[in-house]
Amino acid sequence: MKFQTLGLVSELCAAVESRGYLEPTPIQAGAIPAILDKKDVLGGAQTGTGKTAAFALPMLQLLEKPLNSAPRALILTPTRELAEQVAESFIAYGRHLHLKVLKIYGGVPIKPQIRSLSRGIDIVVATPGRLLDHVQQRTIDLSNIDILVLDEADRMLDMGFINDIKAVLRLLKKPSRQTLMFSATYAKDVEKLALSILKNPVRVEVAKRNAAAEDVRQRVYFVDRAGKLDLLVHLIREGSWYQVLIFVRTKHGADRLAKKLNKADIPSAAIHGDKKQGARTRALDNFKKGDLQALIATDIAARGIDLVDLSHVVNFDLPQQAEDYVHRIGRTGRAGKSGDAISFVMPEEMKKLNEIERVVKTSIPAKTVAGFEPSAPVTREPELPKPGADRGSSHRGNRRGETGAQGSADRHPRSGRKR
Ligand code: AMP
Repeated sequence: MKFQTLGLVSELCAAVESRGYLEPTPIQAGAIPAILDKKDVLGGAQTGTGKTAAFALPMLQLLEKPLNSAPRALILTPTRELAEQVAESFIAYGRHLHLKVLKIYGGVPIKPQIRSLSRGIDIVVATPGRLLDHVQQRTIDLSNIDILVLDEADRMLDMGFINDIKAVLRLLKKPSRQTLMFSATYAKDVEKLALSILKNPVRVEVAKRNAAAEDVRQRVYFVDRAGKLDLLVHLIREGSWYQVLIFVRTKHGADRLAKKLNKADIPSAAIHGDKKQGARTRALDNFKKGDLQALIATDIAARGIDLVDLSHVVNFDLPQQAEDYVHRIGRTGRAGKSGDAISFVMPEEMKKLNEIERVVKTSIPAKTVAGFEPSAPVTREPELPKPGADRGSSHRGNRRGETGAQGSADRHPRSGRKR
Protein backbone atom coordinates (compact mmCIF):
# COMPACT_ATOMS: atom_id res chain seq x y z
CA MET A 1 0.00 0.00 0.00
CA LYS A 2 1.20 3.50 -0.82
CA PHE A 3 0.76 6.66 1.25
CA GLN A 4 -1.04 8.24 -1.73
CA THR A 5 -3.86 5.72 -1.46
CA LEU A 6 -4.69 7.02 2.02
CA GLY A 7 -5.72 10.37 0.60
CA LEU A 8 -2.65 12.35 1.58
CA VAL A 9 -1.58 15.31 -0.56
CA SER A 10 1.62 15.07 -2.57
CA GLU A 11 3.61 17.41 -0.26
CA LEU A 12 3.06 15.03 2.64
CA CYS A 13 3.76 11.93 0.56
CA ALA A 14 7.01 13.53 -0.56
CA ALA A 15 7.96 14.31 3.04
CA VAL A 16 7.45 10.72 4.23
CA GLU A 17 9.17 9.29 1.20
CA SER A 18 12.17 11.49 1.84
CA ARG A 19 12.33 9.95 5.31
CA GLY A 20 12.55 6.56 3.68
CA TYR A 21 9.10 5.27 4.62
CA LEU A 22 8.08 2.89 1.86
CA GLU A 23 4.57 2.17 3.00
CA PRO A 24 2.21 3.06 5.84
CA THR A 25 2.37 1.04 9.04
CA PRO A 26 -0.92 -0.61 10.13
CA ILE A 27 -1.83 2.20 12.54
CA GLN A 28 -1.22 4.72 9.76
CA ALA A 29 -3.28 2.74 7.26
CA GLY A 30 -6.14 2.58 9.77
CA ALA A 31 -6.03 6.05 11.31
CA ILE A 32 -5.07 8.39 8.45
CA PRO A 33 -8.25 7.98 6.33
CA ALA A 34 -10.47 8.25 9.42
CA ILE A 35 -8.74 11.43 10.62
CA LEU A 36 -8.89 12.95 7.13
CA ASP A 37 -12.59 12.14 7.26
CA LYS A 38 -12.79 14.32 10.42
CA LYS A 39 -13.68 11.38 12.63
CA ASP A 40 -12.61 11.03 16.25
CA VAL A 41 -10.12 8.19 16.63
CA LEU A 42 -9.17 5.90 19.47
CA GLY A 43 -5.83 4.38 18.52
CA GLY A 44 -4.52 1.38 20.40
CA ALA A 45 -0.85 1.60 19.60
CA GLN A 46 2.35 1.91 21.49
CA THR A 47 5.40 3.94 20.59
CA GLY A 48 7.26 2.31 17.75
CA THR A 49 4.24 1.54 15.62
CA GLY A 50 4.42 4.78 13.65
CA LYS A 51 1.57 6.33 15.64
CA THR A 52 3.02 9.85 15.52
CA ALA A 53 2.86 10.00 11.73
CA ALA A 54 -0.58 8.36 11.95
CA PHE A 55 -1.98 11.53 13.49
CA ALA A 56 0.56 14.16 12.38
CA LEU A 57 0.19 13.58 8.64
CA PRO A 58 -3.61 13.90 8.38
CA MET A 59 -3.63 16.78 10.87
CA LEU A 60 -1.15 18.71 8.77
CA GLN A 61 -3.41 18.15 5.80
CA LEU A 62 -6.56 19.26 7.64
CA LEU A 63 -4.90 22.39 8.99
CA GLU A 64 -3.69 23.16 5.50
CA LYS A 65 -2.50 26.76 5.39
CA PRO A 66 -0.58 28.58 8.10
CA LEU A 67 -2.83 31.16 9.76
CA ASN A 68 -0.31 32.33 12.35
CA SER A 69 -3.02 33.07 14.87
CA ALA A 70 -4.17 31.28 18.02
CA PRO A 71 -3.26 27.58 17.82
CA ARG A 72 -5.69 25.32 15.96
CA ALA A 73 -4.23 21.98 16.99
CA LEU A 74 -3.10 20.81 20.40
CA ILE A 75 -1.21 17.63 21.14
CA LEU A 76 -0.87 16.71 24.80
CA THR A 77 1.96 14.37 25.75
CA PRO A 78 3.01 12.98 29.12
CA THR A 79 6.69 13.96 28.88
CA ARG A 80 8.96 16.62 27.49
CA GLU A 81 10.85 14.03 25.47
CA LEU A 82 7.70 12.89 23.74
CA ALA A 83 6.63 16.51 23.16
CA GLU A 84 10.00 17.15 21.60
CA GLN A 85 9.72 14.17 19.28
CA VAL A 86 6.15 14.81 18.28
CA ALA A 87 6.98 18.45 17.49
CA GLU A 88 9.98 17.33 15.45
CA SER A 89 7.75 14.95 13.50
CA PHE A 90 5.26 17.72 12.72
CA ILE A 91 8.08 19.95 11.53
CA ALA A 92 9.66 17.20 9.43
CA TYR A 93 6.45 15.95 7.82
CA GLY A 94 5.12 19.45 7.30
CA ARG A 95 8.22 21.00 5.87
CA HIS A 96 6.50 21.87 2.60
CA LEU A 97 3.47 23.36 4.35
CA HIS A 98 4.99 26.11 6.56
CA LEU A 99 2.63 25.63 9.51
CA LYS A 100 4.08 26.95 12.74
CA VAL A 101 4.73 24.37 15.43
CA LEU A 102 5.57 25.18 19.05
CA LYS A 103 6.57 22.80 21.82
CA ILE A 104 5.59 23.80 25.31
CA TYR A 105 7.03 22.03 28.33
CA GLY A 106 8.54 22.84 31.67
CA GLY A 107 12.16 22.78 32.74
CA VAL A 108 13.06 25.47 30.20
CA PRO A 109 12.46 29.26 30.29
CA ILE A 110 8.86 30.26 29.61
CA LYS A 111 9.63 33.61 27.94
CA PRO A 112 10.67 32.28 24.51
CA GLN A 113 7.46 30.22 24.48
CA ILE A 114 5.45 33.34 25.24
CA ARG A 115 7.22 35.25 22.45
CA SER A 116 6.49 32.48 19.94
CA LEU A 117 2.84 32.34 21.01
CA SER A 118 2.46 36.07 20.57
CA ARG A 119 3.73 35.80 17.01
CA GLY A 120 1.06 33.22 16.15
CA ILE A 121 1.22 29.44 16.12
CA ASP A 122 -0.73 26.74 14.27
CA ILE A 123 0.18 23.62 16.23
CA VAL A 124 1.08 23.31 19.90
CA VAL A 125 2.66 20.18 21.34
CA ALA A 126 2.59 20.40 25.11
CA THR A 127 2.89 18.68 28.42
CA PRO A 128 -0.11 19.53 30.60
CA GLY A 129 1.68 21.34 33.45
CA ARG A 130 3.44 24.05 31.46
CA LEU A 131 0.46 24.43 29.18
CA LEU A 132 -1.69 25.32 32.18
CA ASP A 133 0.98 27.78 33.35
CA HIS A 134 0.46 29.58 30.07
CA VAL A 135 -3.29 29.44 30.52
CA GLN A 136 -2.95 31.02 33.96
CA GLN A 137 -0.68 33.72 32.64
CA ARG A 138 -3.10 34.26 29.75
CA THR A 139 -0.32 33.79 27.26
CA ILE A 140 -2.18 31.13 25.29
CA ASP A 141 -5.65 31.09 23.80
CA LEU A 142 -7.04 27.59 23.39
CA SER A 143 -10.49 28.60 22.18
CA ASN A 144 -9.55 28.08 18.54
CA ILE A 145 -8.47 24.45 18.86
CA ASP A 146 -10.02 22.36 16.08
CA ILE A 147 -8.08 19.17 16.74
CA LEU A 148 -7.00 17.78 20.10
CA VAL A 149 -4.69 14.78 20.48
CA LEU A 150 -4.04 12.92 23.70
CA ASP A 151 -0.87 11.00 23.00
CA GLU A 152 0.06 8.13 25.30
CA ALA A 153 -3.15 8.75 27.19
CA ASP A 154 -2.51 5.83 29.52
CA ARG A 155 0.82 7.32 30.58
CA MET A 156 -0.77 10.68 31.20
CA LEU A 157 -3.33 9.07 33.46
CA ASP A 158 -0.64 7.01 35.22
CA MET A 159 1.25 10.21 35.86
CA GLY A 160 -1.77 11.79 37.46
CA PHE A 161 -2.61 14.28 34.72
CA ILE A 162 -6.35 13.57 34.69
CA ASN A 163 -7.32 16.86 36.34
CA ASP A 164 -4.98 18.82 34.09
CA ILE A 165 -6.51 17.13 31.05
CA LYS A 166 -9.99 18.00 32.27
CA ALA A 167 -8.89 21.60 32.87
CA VAL A 168 -7.58 21.81 29.31
CA LEU A 169 -10.77 20.27 27.90
CA ARG A 170 -12.85 22.96 29.59
CA LEU A 171 -10.91 25.60 27.67
CA LEU A 172 -11.64 24.14 24.24
CA LYS A 173 -14.69 25.91 22.94
CA LYS A 174 -15.32 24.63 19.44
CA PRO A 175 -18.28 22.23 19.32
CA SER A 176 -16.96 20.76 16.08
CA ARG A 177 -13.66 19.79 17.68
CA GLN A 178 -12.04 16.57 16.48
CA THR A 179 -10.41 14.49 19.21
CA LEU A 180 -7.82 11.76 18.76
CA MET A 181 -6.62 9.58 21.55
CA PHE A 182 -3.73 7.13 21.49
CA SER A 183 -2.94 4.65 24.19
CA ALA A 184 -0.82 1.52 24.41
CA THR A 185 -3.02 -0.08 27.04
CA TYR A 186 -6.69 0.16 27.93
CA ALA A 187 -7.11 0.24 31.65
CA LYS A 188 -10.56 1.21 32.91
CA ASP A 189 -9.59 4.85 33.42
CA VAL A 190 -8.45 5.10 29.79
CA GLU A 191 -11.77 3.70 28.55
CA LYS A 192 -13.63 6.09 30.82
CA LEU A 193 -11.73 9.09 29.51
CA ALA A 194 -12.21 7.91 25.92
CA LEU A 195 -15.95 7.53 26.44
CA SER A 196 -16.23 10.99 27.94
CA ILE A 197 -14.33 12.89 25.26
CA LEU A 198 -14.60 10.98 21.97
CA LYS A 199 -17.65 11.17 19.71
CA ASN A 200 -18.37 7.90 17.88
CA PRO A 201 -14.68 7.17 17.60
CA VAL A 202 -13.18 4.97 14.93
CA ARG A 203 -11.15 2.41 16.80
CA VAL A 204 -7.83 1.49 15.29
CA GLU A 205 -5.98 -1.25 17.07
CA VAL A 206 -2.57 -2.45 16.08
CA ALA A 207 -0.92 -4.08 19.05
CA LYS A 208 -2.95 -6.71 20.80
CA ARG A 209 -4.42 -5.28 23.95
CA ASN A 210 -1.88 -5.33 26.70
CA ALA A 211 0.25 -7.63 24.61
CA ALA A 212 3.87 -7.15 23.71
CA ALA A 213 4.91 -6.36 20.16
CA GLU A 214 5.21 -9.58 18.21
CA ASP A 215 8.63 -8.92 16.83
CA VAL A 216 10.18 -8.55 20.24
CA ARG A 217 11.90 -11.69 21.48
CA GLN A 218 11.42 -11.79 25.20
CA ARG A 219 13.65 -13.61 27.63
CA VAL A 220 14.15 -13.81 31.33
CA TYR A 221 17.46 -14.40 33.09
CA PHE A 222 17.36 -15.63 36.65
CA VAL A 223 20.06 -13.92 38.66
CA ASP A 224 20.80 -12.59 42.15
CA ARG A 225 20.91 -8.87 42.77
CA ALA A 226 24.68 -9.04 43.26
CA GLY A 227 25.18 -10.77 39.91
CA LYS A 228 23.14 -8.37 37.74
CA LEU A 229 25.91 -5.96 36.78
CA ASP A 230 28.39 -8.66 35.79
CA LEU A 231 25.71 -10.56 33.88
CA LEU A 232 24.79 -7.40 32.00
CA VAL A 233 28.41 -6.69 31.07
CA HIS A 234 28.79 -10.33 30.02
CA LEU A 235 25.70 -10.23 27.79
CA ILE A 236 26.66 -6.92 26.17
CA ARG A 237 30.18 -8.13 25.41
CA GLU A 238 29.40 -11.71 24.42
CA GLY A 239 26.51 -10.67 22.23
CA SER A 240 28.44 -7.70 20.77
CA TRP A 241 25.35 -5.63 21.37
CA TYR A 242 25.52 -2.44 19.43
CA GLN A 243 23.28 -0.52 21.78
CA VAL A 244 21.05 -1.21 24.70
CA LEU A 245 18.40 0.68 26.62
CA ILE A 246 18.43 -0.39 30.25
CA PHE A 247 15.57 0.18 32.66
CA VAL A 248 16.19 0.58 36.35
CA ARG A 249 13.89 1.33 39.22
CA THR A 250 15.47 4.39 40.80
CA LYS A 251 17.28 7.56 39.74
CA HIS A 252 20.14 6.69 42.05
CA GLY A 253 20.30 3.18 40.57
CA ALA A 254 20.46 4.69 37.07
CA ASP A 255 23.44 6.90 37.98
CA ARG A 256 25.20 4.05 39.76
CA LEU A 257 24.79 1.67 36.85
CA ALA A 258 25.98 4.26 34.31
CA LYS A 259 29.11 4.80 36.39
CA LYS A 260 29.80 1.08 36.64
CA LEU A 261 29.27 0.42 32.95
CA ASN A 262 31.56 3.30 32.03
CA LYS A 263 34.18 1.73 34.28
CA ALA A 264 33.69 -1.51 32.36
CA ASP A 265 34.43 0.42 29.13
CA ILE A 266 30.82 0.46 27.99
CA PRO A 267 30.11 4.14 27.24
CA SER A 268 26.91 4.91 29.10
CA ALA A 269 24.71 7.69 30.41
CA ALA A 270 21.70 7.84 32.67
CA ILE A 271 18.52 9.82 32.11
CA HIS A 272 16.04 10.45 34.87
CA GLY A 273 13.81 13.09 36.36
CA ASP A 274 16.55 14.78 38.40
CA LYS A 275 18.64 15.50 35.31
CA LYS A 276 18.25 18.87 33.66
CA GLN A 277 16.48 18.89 30.32
CA GLY A 278 19.75 19.81 28.59
CA ALA A 279 21.57 16.84 30.07
CA ARG A 280 18.74 14.50 29.09
CA THR A 281 18.65 15.77 25.52
CA ARG A 282 22.44 15.54 25.28
CA ALA A 283 22.45 11.95 26.54
CA LEU A 284 19.69 11.01 24.12
CA ASP A 285 21.47 12.68 21.19
CA ASN A 286 24.75 10.97 22.05
CA PHE A 287 22.97 7.66 22.23
CA LYS A 288 21.26 8.25 18.89
CA LYS A 289 24.59 9.21 17.31
CA GLY A 290 26.06 5.95 18.55
CA ASP A 291 28.53 7.62 20.92
CA LEU A 292 26.92 5.84 23.82
CA GLN A 293 26.46 2.11 23.92
CA ALA A 294 24.09 2.02 26.87
CA LEU A 295 21.37 4.39 27.97
CA ILE A 296 20.03 3.80 31.45
CA ALA A 297 16.61 5.15 32.22
CA THR A 298 13.88 5.20 34.80
CA ASP A 299 10.35 4.58 33.54
CA ILE A 300 9.34 8.22 33.64
CA ALA A 301 12.42 9.44 31.78
CA ALA A 302 12.10 6.78 29.12
CA ARG A 303 8.47 7.43 28.31
CA GLY A 304 8.02 8.32 24.73
CA ILE A 305 11.66 8.54 23.76
CA ASP A 306 11.99 7.69 20.12
CA LEU A 307 14.85 5.35 19.46
CA VAL A 308 14.85 3.79 16.06
CA ASP A 309 16.41 0.42 15.40
CA LEU A 310 17.11 -0.37 19.01
CA SER A 311 18.13 -3.99 19.16
CA HIS A 312 18.17 -4.60 22.90
CA VAL A 313 16.17 -3.54 25.91
CA VAL A 314 17.11 -4.80 29.35
CA ASN A 315 14.93 -4.69 32.41
CA PHE A 316 17.77 -4.53 34.90
CA ASP A 317 15.08 -4.09 37.54
CA LEU A 318 11.60 -5.39 36.86
CA PRO A 319 9.00 -2.62 36.53
CA GLN A 320 6.83 -1.76 39.51
CA GLN A 321 3.68 -2.14 37.43
CA ALA A 322 3.35 -5.16 35.18
CA GLU A 323 1.80 -2.89 32.52
CA ASP A 324 5.03 -0.89 32.35
CA TYR A 325 6.73 -3.99 31.00
CA VAL A 326 4.81 -3.58 27.76
CA HIS A 327 5.91 0.04 27.45
CA ARG A 328 9.49 -0.76 28.19
CA ILE A 329 9.90 -3.56 25.72
CA GLY A 330 7.99 -1.52 23.12
CA ARG A 331 11.23 0.43 22.74
CA THR A 332 12.64 -2.37 20.65
CA GLY A 333 11.20 -4.28 17.73
CA ARG A 334 9.89 -1.01 16.31
CA ALA A 335 8.48 -0.29 12.89
CA GLY A 336 8.85 -3.85 11.70
CA LYS A 337 12.36 -4.50 13.03
CA SER A 338 12.99 -7.27 15.51
CA GLY A 339 14.52 -6.77 18.91
CA ASP A 340 15.39 -8.51 22.14
CA ALA A 341 13.84 -7.70 25.47
CA ILE A 342 15.70 -9.20 28.39
CA SER A 343 14.57 -9.13 32.00
CA PHE A 344 16.66 -9.88 35.04
CA VAL A 345 14.56 -11.69 37.58
CA MET A 346 15.65 -12.46 41.12
CA PRO A 347 14.32 -15.65 42.73
CA GLU A 348 12.19 -13.62 45.12
CA GLU A 349 10.48 -11.88 42.17
CA MET A 350 8.57 -14.84 40.77
CA LYS A 351 5.25 -13.28 41.70
CA LYS A 352 6.09 -10.17 39.73
CA LEU A 353 7.18 -12.28 36.77
CA ASN A 354 3.88 -14.15 36.88
CA GLU A 355 2.01 -10.83 36.83
CA ILE A 356 3.98 -9.70 33.80
CA GLU A 357 3.29 -12.98 32.03
CA ARG A 358 -0.40 -12.56 32.69
CA VAL A 359 -0.28 -9.09 31.11
CA VAL A 360 1.61 -10.24 28.01
CA LYS A 361 -0.39 -13.47 27.96
CA THR A 362 2.66 -15.63 27.35
CA SER A 363 5.18 -17.57 29.31
CA ILE A 364 8.53 -15.87 28.76
CA PRO A 365 11.39 -18.30 28.08
CA ALA A 366 13.90 -18.25 30.90
CA LYS A 367 17.52 -19.17 31.30
CA THR A 368 20.46 -18.92 33.59
CA VAL A 369 24.04 -18.33 32.58
CA ALA A 370 26.80 -20.47 34.07
CA GLY A 371 28.63 -18.45 36.66
CA PHE A 372 25.62 -16.20 37.26
CA GLU A 373 23.12 -18.68 38.67
CA PRO A 374 21.05 -17.39 41.58
CA SER A 375 21.87 -18.86 44.97
CA ALA A 376 18.23 -19.73 45.76
CA PRO A 377 16.32 -22.24 43.65
CA VAL A 378 13.81 -20.85 41.17
CA THR A 379 10.40 -22.42 40.79
CA ARG A 380 8.11 -21.43 37.98
CA GLU A 381 4.51 -22.22 37.34
CA PRO A 382 4.33 -22.95 33.62
CA GLU A 383 0.70 -22.00 33.08
CA LEU A 384 0.77 -19.93 29.92
CA PRO A 385 1.64 -20.82 26.35
CA LYS A 386 5.11 -20.06 25.04
CA PRO A 387 5.17 -16.99 22.80
CA GLY A 388 5.21 -17.58 19.07
CA ALA A 389 7.73 -14.77 18.93
CA ASP A 390 10.39 -16.93 20.51
CA ARG A 391 11.30 -18.34 17.17
CA GLY A 392 14.59 -19.92 18.15
CA SER A 393 13.62 -21.87 21.20
CA SER A 394 14.69 -25.34 20.22
CA HIS A 395 18.38 -25.28 21.16
CA ARG A 396 19.60 -25.98 24.60
CA GLY A 397 22.85 -25.31 26.35
CA ASN A 398 24.34 -22.78 23.97
CA ARG A 399 27.71 -21.24 24.37
CA ARG A 400 29.12 -20.24 27.72
CA GLY A 401 26.96 -22.84 29.37
CA GLU A 402 23.68 -20.98 28.91
CA THR A 403 20.78 -23.24 29.63
CA GLY A 404 17.12 -23.07 28.82
CA ALA A 405 15.52 -21.84 25.65
CA GLN A 406 18.14 -20.21 23.53
CA GLY A 407 17.53 -16.57 23.02
CA SER A 408 19.05 -14.30 20.50
CA ALA A 409 21.67 -12.32 22.32
CA ASP A 410 24.05 -13.37 19.58
CA ARG A 411 21.80 -12.84 16.61
CA HIS A 412 22.76 -9.26 16.03
CA PRO A 413 25.98 -9.56 14.14
CA ARG A 414 27.09 -6.03 14.89
CA SER A 415 30.60 -6.47 16.03
CA GLY A 416 31.85 -2.91 16.14
CA ARG A 417 30.34 0.00 18.01
CA LYS A 418 29.63 2.09 14.92
CA ARG A 419 27.55 0.99 12.02
P1 AMP B 1 6.36 6.26 16.55
O1 AMP B 1 5.55 5.07 16.87
O2 AMP B 1 5.57 7.39 16.06
O3 AMP B 1 7.24 6.64 17.72
O4 AMP B 1 7.34 5.88 15.34
C1 AMP B 1 8.34 4.92 15.49
C2 AMP B 1 9.42 5.05 14.44
O5 AMP B 1 8.96 4.53 13.19
C3 AMP B 1 9.84 6.49 14.19
O6 AMP B 1 11.25 6.53 14.21
C4 AMP B 1 9.34 6.80 12.81
O7 AMP B 1 10.24 7.67 12.15
C5 AMP B 1 9.28 5.43 12.16
N1 AMP B 1 8.20 5.32 11.16
C6 AMP B 1 6.98 5.90 11.21
N2 AMP B 1 6.23 5.56 10.15
C7 AMP B 1 6.99 4.74 9.38
C8 AMP B 1 6.77 4.06 8.14
N3 AMP B 1 5.63 4.15 7.49
N4 AMP B 1 7.78 3.30 7.66
C9 AMP B 1 8.95 3.20 8.34
N5 AMP B 1 9.22 3.82 9.51
C10 AMP B 1 8.25 4.58 10.04
